[in-house]
Amino acid sequence: MEPSSGHAFSMQGTAETASVAPRMETEQAVDSRETLVPPPGTGESTVARAAAAARQVMAQRGDNEWPRPAKTRVITVANQKGGVGKTTTSVNLAAALAMHGAQVLVVDLDPQGNASTALGIDHHADVPSMYHVLIEERPLAEIVMASPELPNLYCAPATLHLAGAEIELVSKVARESRLRRALDDYDKSRFDYVLIDCPPSLGLLTLNALVGGDELLIPIQCEYYALEGLSQLLGTVDLVTSHLNPTLNVSTILLTMYDARTRLAAQVAEEVRSHFGETVLKTLIPRSVRVSEAPSYGQSVMTYDPGSTGALAYSEAASEIAHRWAEVAS
Ligand code: ADP
Ligand code: MG
Repeated sequence: MEPSSGHAFSMQGTAETASVAPRMETEQAVDSRETLVPPPGTGESTVARAAAAARQVMAQRGDNEWPRPAKTRVITVANQKGGVGKTTTSVNLAAALAMHGAQVLVVDLDPQGNASTALGIDHHADVPSMYHVLIEERPLAEIVMASPELPNLYCAPATLHLAGAEIELVSKVARESRLRRALDDYDKSRFDYVLIDCPPSLGLLTLNALVGGDELLIPIQCEYYALEGLSQLLGTVDLVTSHLNPTLNVSTILLTMYDARTRLAAQVAEEVRSHFGETVLKTLIPRSVRVSEAPSYGQSVMTYDPGSTGALAYSEAASEIAHRWAEVAS
């Protein structure tokens, strides 16, 4: 699927100050009221809670199985803006897919290692990481670790060394294609999904992720400056598709941190949908305290509070992603 129109956007009509509806409830109140299964600390194990939540969500949806792709889907999660929900999206979609039986690998390409943290993976400086894969050509198989989050979930961790990789890559041979080569050399057939979490820049790490992926998922935060920088990202995608990776496809846009109480969020969502049409998932990810709390427990929100609005939304979004492939493939 291609973006539905050109890459020049205007934010006219969204310049209005965010107005807050008068009968607003606090986010926490909304979250806890909508919590359908017990929150953490009630004695159940993480996995048991996650499994219960998955069953509950599936029962609500009335479908028990999500289609598994015939071949591994490598999905790059990128947006050079920081704080738009790239890591949160990578981790929670990965967990949701794993909860429905898919085998999932998260490749953490951000030197901050937030995805590794959220998946409960130790990533202190001595841990073999994506730095070693990209710079020293170490096989991915040697650094992939099982996440304690869920049985089918794995992570290729990032450490702070990766910050140096951005500079060290400049003088390396095939500097833009090193992740692609590592993924090609790795037997990833055991995985249904590989999700690549990018740093907040359009440097060589993100470029490697664009060259390494088949699909691009762009999280867009429902805020005033949401579309700023997007034309630059899509310009980079055009360069990548014409020179380095013709298969890259902007398959998915996900609206994140949606605050239903503000007109601004609705306007941004509408603007994004009018530009990108079907590429935008129907599911909106709401702003939710539980989503932001989960990483500090080394968890995704899917296991931290599986019944929360944030977890249910990520589960819906993951289901859309799984089913869309099935529609395209059939
Ligand atoms: P990025 O990876 O694009 O920099 P993050 O996923 O780290 O963005 O998100 C930025 C911050 O916003 C983090 O503190 C995260 O916990 C928080 N956050 C992300 N999504 C949500 C959400 N739906 N509701 C509340 N907070 C969120
Ligand atoms: Mg991040």
